[in-house]
Amino acid sequence: MPIRLLPESVASRIAAGEVVERPASVVKELLENSLDAGSTRIDIETQDGGATLIRIHDNGTGIPAAEVALAFRRHATSKLETADDLEAIATLGFRGEALSSIASVSRTTCVTRHTSETAGTRLRIEGGEIVSHTSVGRPSGTELIVEDLFYNVPARRKFMRSAQTERRHIDSFTTRYAIAYPSVAFTAVHDGREVLRSPGTGDPREVLLSIYGTDLGASLLTVPEDYTADQPIEVRGFVAPTTVHRANRGYITLFINGRWVEDLRLTYAIIQAYHTLLPVNRFPVAFVLVTVPPGDVDVNVHPAKSEVRFRDADTVFRAVQRAVRATVVNEAPVASSWSAGETVEPAGDASTRTRLAALQPSQGHITFPPITRGEAPQASGLLVGANSAGGLAPSSRPQSTSGQFLPPLRIVGQVATMFIVAEGPDGLYLIDQHAAHERVLYERLVSGAATGTLARQPLLDPEIVTLPADEAGRLEELLPSLGDVGVEAEVFGPNTFLVRALPAELGMVSSADLLADIAAVQQSSSPIRSHLEESLIRHICKRAAIKAGQVLSLQEMDRLVKDLERTGNPRTCPHGRPTIVEIPTEDLARRFGRPGV
Ligand code: ADP
Ligand code: MG
Repeated sequence: MPIRLLPESVASRIAAGEVVERPASVVKELLENSLDAGSTRIDIETQDGGATLIRIHDNGTGIPAAEVALAFRRHATSKLETADDLEAIATLGFRGEALSSIASVSRTTCVTRHTSETAGTRLRIEGGEIVSHTSVGRPSGTELIVEDLFYNVPARRKFMRSAQTERRHIDSFTTRYAIAYPSVAFTAVHDGREVLRSPGTGDPREVLLSIYGTDLGASLLTVPEDYTADQPIEVRGFVAPTTVHRANRGYITLFINGRWVEDLRLTYAIIQAYHTLLPVNRFPVAFVLVTVPPGDVDVNVHPAKSEVRFRDADTVFRAVQRAVRATVVNEAPVASSWSAGETVEPAGDASTRTRLAALQPSQGHITFPPITRGEAPQASGLLVGANSAGGLAPSSRPQSTSGQFLPPLRIVGQVATMFIVAEGPDGLYLIDQHAAHERVLYERLVSGAATGTLARQPLLDPEIVTLPADEAGRLEELLPSLGDVGVEAEVFGPNTFLVRALPAELGMVSSADLLADIAAVQQSSSPIRSHLEESLIRHICKRAAIKAGQVLSLQEMDRLVKDLERTGNPRTCPHGRPTIVEIPTEDLARRFGRPGV
């Protein structure tokens, strides 16, 4: 084929793909426009995950009648005048691409009235062509209705994900913006069901409570403004105390100058701020808003504007890390292990203590003592020497005890509130209390679920758990399978669940944490039902197993080790990590310079 210039109608549909990747990206662009227009109320409605209908209604400035048609032309924007303006962008939009792209791949209706005009405008565009343009009466503000997205781009339509997946993406976007813009009252309705309502009072804490529920919402700590006072970089937001953490970094949200962005480095700054304060492989919950002078950040680096580039990335990194660290450390009750050079005053005031006590999960029958404050330090220090100096790591020498089974063990004690120390016929054994308990729980739940004999423990007080809309959607899909693994929960209201029973094997575990972990299970990871169950069980065990940092009595340790002995795979946890490390007597002897024991 010879080289030809594409007709404008084809070219714009191709370009549209960059901005309008999926229904969620339409919602994002329209929401940004409504925020740029100074709205204090934004209502979002979708049908079929946005595939057939996306409707966004705002009470912003509206578009002047003479400019409505122009707004739908490519590169038409009221937000930039000269190339210089690109250097310091203070609005969410600036490319003038969204409306034209959306209108070229859907049937779009715009009804709007500018605050300074008496008559409004109704413009209808199908596949990029204006089909009607009339004058109408309406209050000032704008309503954008996008129907039949990608109806004229079959290739794109074929690749659209399920309505549920789209709703989840839309929710994860709208809930975050609702928190970042607390003065704007948001609602979101999917297929007639309301999933989000933020009060718009200007108090972000109220939004957090309405989205995350009282448990997580109330526990989040406010990053005080004084940590970045008098600096050009301002860091604000909410971060979880060290007692609350999640299995992945998906709970870390970053806003830069009012825009939600994905920034690996700043995400890492937040994780770093929790260094040594969280158990291994656990991640903080954080909602951090960074404000820098518009000239110090380039937002024009990514088609979806979801990445930014800083003029001085290191300074921003340090500001975020310091503000978050200071917030967390000032609240952390006990310093278990700190990075070099830092001194930390344990916060002793009564209010902190009461609040932390209130965070301890309260329901369920207690099989182990409560988690000691401060949770798990990452480095214990005590055993590190043996590992590095003596080459005693489990992999470095053959296991002298044959096969899977454990030798008879005598419990000696506990070290670093993390490992059980035991004596066996060939030497010293260290058992990871969390990994061991995970293995025990896992095998009981798996065999119970397989044989239908799983005992359930009804909760005396059924627990009400509220989750953010995207997680709630995911959890709802998982509810039927949850029953099979002993978790009895039902939908109780929008994004709210009632937990009636948990597997009897589980000790003290908070339903809220458990459900949040379960919502993270990738349902699409396997189509096989038993695989899903297995994956659910693994998440449940991980959450319910006794933690590092928990003090155990000799009897409790003895029972745990006996239970471990009875499992089919006592040497690894369900995630494949070792539960037990052996240090043969002759190695100990060698380290003491005693030849040949
Ligand atoms: P951009 O946001 O990059 O300027 P868009 O294509 O998204 O480009 O929008 C084009 C223009 O239409 C905007 O610059 C703005 O002037 C106007 N506009 C779009 N949506 C709204 C809205 N909800 N309220 C008021 N004006 C709007
Ligand atoms: Mg825009």
